[in-house]
Amino acid sequence: MTETALELINPMVRDLRQEAERDTETFWDRAAQHLPWFRTWDRVFEHDFPTFKWFTGGETNLSYSCLDHHLARGRAGHTALIYVNERGERRLFTYAQLHHEVERTAAALRGMGIRKGDRLTVYMPTCPEAITLMLAAVRIGAIHSVVFAGFGAGALGDRIAASGSRLVFTADVTFRKGGEVALKHIVDSALKAAGETVERVVVLRRTAEEPSMESGRDLYWNEFLSMADGESGAFERMESNEPAYILATSGTTAKPKLAVHTHGGYQVGIYSMGRWCFGMDEADVWWSTSDIGWVVGHSYIVYAPLLFGCTTIAYEGAYDHPGPEAVWSIVEEFGVTGIFTSPTAVRLLMRYGEKPASGFDLSSLRRIMSAGEVLNAPAWEWLQKQVLDDRIPVIDHWWQTETGGPAIGNPYGVAMLPTKPGSATLPLPGIDVAVMTPDGRECGPGEKGVLVIRRPFPSLTPALWGEPERYGRDYWERINGVYFTGDSAHIDEDGYVWFAGRADEVIKIAAHRMGTIEVETAFLKHPAVAEAGVTGRPDEVRGEVISAFVVLKEGREPSADLERELRETVRDELGAVAVIGELHFVNTLPKTRSGKIMRRVLRSVILDKDPGDITTIEDEGSVEEARRAWQELKEATASTPRPS
Ligand code: AMP
Repeated sequence: MTETALELINPMVRDLRQEAERDTETFWDRAAQHLPWFRTWDRVFEHDFPTFKWFTGGETNLSYSCLDHHLARGRAGHTALIYVNERGERRLFTYAQLHHEVERTAAALRGMGIRKGDRLTVYMPTCPEAITLMLAAVRIGAIHSVVFAGFGAGALGDRIAASGSRLVFTADVTFRKGGEVALKHIVDSALKAAGETVERVVVLRRTAEEPSMESGRDLYWNEFLSMADGESGAFERMESNEPAYILATSGTTAKPKLAVHTHGGYQVGIYSMGRWCFGMDEADVWWSTSDIGWVVGHSYIVYAPLLFGCTTIAYEGAYDHPGPEAVWSIVEEFGVTGIFTSPTAVRLLMRYGEKPASGFDLSSLRRIMSAGEVLNAPAWEWLQKQVLDDRIPVIDHWWQTETGGPAIGNPYGVAMLPTKPGSATLPLPGIDVAVMTPDGRECGPGEKGVLVIRRPFPSLTPALWGEPERYGRDYWERINGVYFTGDSAHIDEDGYVWFAGRADEVIKIAAHRMGTIEVETAFLKHPAVAEAGVTGRPDEVRGEVISAFVVLKEGREPSADLERELRETVRDELGAVAVIGELHFVNTLPKTRSGKIMRRVLRSVILDKDPGDITTIEDEGSVEEARRAWQELKEATASTPRPS
């Protein structure tokens, strides 16, 4: 990428990026030296297209770097983990205490016969036992596969089968919105269909009620810990490229893709981006409002904060329970310095207005990071200006399960560049991206295409578990020899990256290509709108028109006048080409459990088709609601032409 006007005014950012461009291997070699290694690598990078290796011959252990390393540095008494749940429960662990628990759990895993390379599935809430288990597995070279504890039996079974896990860990319940969601019976039904490799199921019991236990297979957590008998919890020296964990991508295909993350490259990647993008350090009290079921939970609830030796907060429950002020009260109570959240969470809080945040002391906060979807300009502005009074930055940044950590973002940790609301800012140091047409031509400034990554970087997944051919096919062979992200985007004249939605969701109206995100952002410009999800509906004249599903803020009611205003707002923002076929008011949008709007489900609704695989959906009722809205509209317009 050429030097941009903005980089010129920021020598620190420019220098780092130039260093990476001049000699990528030396650049990553230096980055790796910030972390503990038992043996130095022979080679920084080896490419065996489509896969690759980082820091070959180097020996390290991700769990050692997170724990033992800090004990050796005299930080044993520092708080490592604060567990908070929506019921008001709090548990604190120092580095010494967490280390002790992890060693104990590692010994128990060995007592169960688990060895280096074995897989185990973790289907648990974001709680200390689950985090301890992840660190313990990694410690002995076993490979964890965490499955979000909101998925149903089908999705869980598929993931267990794909990982070939020997053990499954679960809990009787998880806490959510004042209630309890039972987990153990979901495991039981998942195992009926997909349990061939599973030998034992370990259950963390949190309530008085006894879950159904299958004798000979199921055991409680304390029984599991007692298996340690005589075993050691010592760590294994792992070659840099050996897998630390596998995690299903959020792709909506029926067959899960399990991204592999390694001990060496992954560790270097998430630590480096933690420094350059998030500005993390050991004084942070870090709160990623995610779940251990997602990659954000792996990288920025568990591993990176512990690599930095700071304090990480793990929260179980809903963020607006018992009320929307819960988030802000936690910031005040623990002196949170950094938050990592998602646009869905911001838009959820936006529905309640600024009031819940007022009255809390938020002075400890230094920055709020957001990823997962575009942080649309109106949502950014609300948080940045209305809630935070412009005191600290709210920073959008982009990544995927496969990238392990951020790839595009504002390098806040180096020097904050000017924010362009709605843009994820620049590729981070060491990340070489471009926007290309499907036939591999690089697009000019402002020209829309697919975002690709031209070169591997350390935390990029080097493989899909058990599917070497699919890895090449899905990522490196779609556009000749570059990594295909699947996201539609453009890069502006300053080098800023703007995302428009998934490439396969672009709406084509009379030869114009419009990203779903652009249209949804236009809706959000209207003060009554809390959220919008759009898709293209085939239209004889224009190719496609927009079909929009809109959620209103608290206290706003649907009306013909409001609909007219919304249509005008979108037209004002995007021009007459943004033809809205129909607009539906709904209470919820179909979303994945990680909060991403499922636009393909909206599309199936307006095409009167089966929505296909919806095992990852948050609320199945949302599909019914969308379908009802669409049916009502069709009936109402049956005798008249559709509005457009
Ligand atoms: P996941 O693998 O679940 O982390 O999802 C990755 C996908 O989320 C990306 O390919 C994007 O489509 C979307 N995504 C993540 N962060 C952003 C962002 N800041 N802006 C736009 N899209 C994003």
